Amino acid sequence: MIAVLVVSLVSSQAYARSRATEGDTKTQCLWWKERTVITWRQSTLGSQRTPGESEFAAVEASFAAWQEVLSSCGSLSFEQGPRSTSRLAEYAERGANENLVLFREQRCNEVAPRQDPCFSDGSCGNKYDCWQFSESAIGITTTSFDPRTGKILDSDIELNGPAYLFTTVDAPPCVRGAESVACVAADVRNTMTHEIGHLLGLAHIDEATSTMAPRAMTGETVKRTIDPGSRRFICDVYAKGQPSKTCFTLALGTESAPVAKTGCAAVPVSSLLAVALVLVRRRRR
Ligand SMILES: [Zn+2]
Repeated sequence: MIAVLVVSLVSSQAYARSRATEGDTKTQCLWWKERTVITWRQSTLGSQRTPGESEFAAVEASFAAWQEVLSSCGSLSFEQGPRSTSRLAEYAERGANENLVLFREQRCNEVAPRQDPCFSDGSCGNKYDCWQFSESAIGITTTSFDPRTGKILDSDIELNGPAYLFTTVDAPPCVRGAESVACVAADVRNTMTHEIGHLLGLAHIDEATSTMAPRAMTGETVKRTIDPGSRRFICDVYAKGQPSKTCFTLALGTESAPVAKTGCAAVPVSSLLAVALVLVRRRRR
């Protein structure tokens, strides 16, 4: 008898989808409607400390990496809109919406008065153009979606400029404590490729080689390359020529419930889901 031992050198190629309640698999998955052209825009300000226009090109390259997967087997597409003067990471139920990428450059607890109610309702970031999230998070993607269906309406990406030096060079990795723009500190593409995964509906996965691994080291660039599991997410969930896959069948009529025709400004209420790319941080000094 010949025993055939199949050794899998490839990882399990797994992925996890974002849920209406993060981590709760009894709640609906988040998804973009099939054939959506997702227009994204960069803030005109870019990143203050990253040289020249290199950060804009790095953000473009990050979207292009996902577009390559979408073109091969997906039904969505990305389109870059003109740079935006908006500093608002939010979903407006009325008026123009932007899927915005912006670098925050100051900490909210340094620029907003301590008694400002924005600290309790989470509005400081937009009000004072500041980073309002955890100091350790490199980036945060805030996705607005219809809680009845999981359909994504808007997604904005903020990057933590006060705490991290964003760089665009390919090598070498910076030595911790000696970060500069001549080496790789917080790589824009490493960070953005991960955050765009969130924008598309991916959640974190505890697999070190995944683009959606929740942590990144100083000098890391591995997440620039979209891993097989995350690629499979695109081909599975947004399969070309098919409706986007939800996790539970939508109740009849919910998907197309028109906001404008209900005549009720109170529906639908969008929910916010912030997901963070957390860096394994050592003390800066
Ligand atoms: Zn993340």
